Amino acid sequence: MIHEVIMTADRIAEFQKIIEQTLAELKVSEIYLKDATKPIEPSVALGRLTRMEAIGEKGVNEARQTEVKRRIERLGNALDRINKGEYGNCIRCGKEIPYERLLAVPEALICVPCAEKKRR
Ligand SMILES: [Zn+2]
Repeated sequence: MIHEVIMTADRIAEFQKIIEQTLAELKVSEIYLKDATKPIEPSVALGRLTRMEAIGEKGVNEARQTEVKRRIERLGNALDRINKGEYGNCIRCGKEIPYERLLAVPEALICVPCAEKKRR
């Protein structure tokens, strides 16, 4: 049986583009969130927001900021893996991660069966 190479150079290039684009978008969000998670000064004029609402909103933005930072890190790792020629292979079983899964999660490191095994 001939091993079918699914992850062609063209597809890798496609993912590199997707990853770089997503990274650029996340970096814009990061700048916005940095501003939105600044400490709230007691004296600041909050407009229509009450102080409690401002604190609640800050909490939401902090959670988002954490998620954005993690994703930037994971996508950066994915770019490293592209450069090393390791991109698209499951780090657990070594098999190729299906194209559709990578489209949904370009930074995926493991295939679905391995992810499910890990969860159990
Ligand atoms: Zn696997």
